[in-house]
Amino acid sequence: MNFQSVEFEAAAGRADQLKKSDLPEIVFSGKSNVGKSSLINKLVNRKALARVSATPGKTATINFFRLPECRFVDLPGYGYAKVSQNEKQRWAKLMQGYFDAERNVALVIQILDMRHPPTDDDLEMVDFLYRSNYPFAVVLTKRDKLNKTNQKLQLEYYQDIFSTIEDLPMIEFSAQDGYGKEEIKALIESHILQTE
Ligand code: GDP
Repeated sequence: MNFQSVEFEAAAGRADQLKKSDLPEIVFSGKSNVGKSSLINKLVNRKALARVSATPGKTATINFFRLPECRFVDLPGYGYAKVSQNEKQRWAKLMQGYFDAERNVALVIQILDMRHPPTDDDLEMVDFLYRSNYPFAVVLTKRDKLNKTNQKLQLEYYQDIFSTIEDLPMIEFSAQDGYGKEEIKALIESHILQTE
């Protein structure tokens, strides 16, 4: 698939604004500021397709990007403390609206910060994906911010945490040097093929 042939399609702030699910969807999930936009931009080789936010927690819409054989679905980042109760409720409804709609989800890419332990929200999300039987993978990002020793240690730490989940792909990634990019692209392509 040509990942560079991509365009922004729509932003949904409410469940009734979601695009029709007529293509396999690659869903990107992660806490606010984890590096979700940077990952999407790197995969499609664009500087600013997905907005790299200076203010964490700002993106509270589900954003759709059209590629030749699939859609990228950028979920709003979760876990930003300074968000009002109202906004949190809207966020929860939007997410529920997405996941309740029985969409054509080819793969959910759950992004975690390789440097830090998962947050409660991260674990809740992984638990949800696992229990709901979604095909999902973990991307451990910001790898470049660790030295060699800690890269190894943190990978083992995460492998240990999720060892009970069988066949869970776990890919280290860096938006800075592109480490892991080709592996993620190959995973996406194989899941699209399985879904079609
Ligand atoms: P989002 O809120 O999850 O979309 O996160 P962003 O993509 O906006 O990234 C948040 C911050 O982390 C930005 O300052 C990025 O430049 C930085 N960042 C994201 N990924 C990486 C990475 O792999 N390496 C480094 N060094 N910085 C990163």
